[in-house]
Amino acid sequence: MGNKQEQYSDVHFISCMNVEEYLDDYLDAEMPLRVRDMFEAHLARCEECRVLVMETRTMLSAVAQLDDRPLDEGVRQRLRETLLETVGYSPYDSSASIRLIK
Ligand SMILES: [Zn+2]
Repeated sequence: MGNKQEQYSDVHFISCMNVEEYLDDYLDAEMPLRVRDMFEAHLARCEECRVLVMETRTMLSAVAQLDDRPLDEGVRQRLRETLLETVGYSPYDSSASIRLIK
């Protein structure tokens, strides 16, 4: 956690680029409250980022629900591609990313 605090200590403004950059930490609640407030303030006035966060959340929870069941290979592949396109990574590529799912 200390590293995260330090990483964000210089953050005084959240741009659309920052939203993409910090999305993981935001969803994972690993972001200092101060930055989280700024992040959410940005979401409140930027529909594009709001949609990005919403879609990412939806997709991650969809993956979580599918996780216990054998997944049709085609669906898995499509989901993976969509995630890679939208988020830049796929939960299937890293067990650590599963922590994102709430
Ligand atoms: Zn934005």
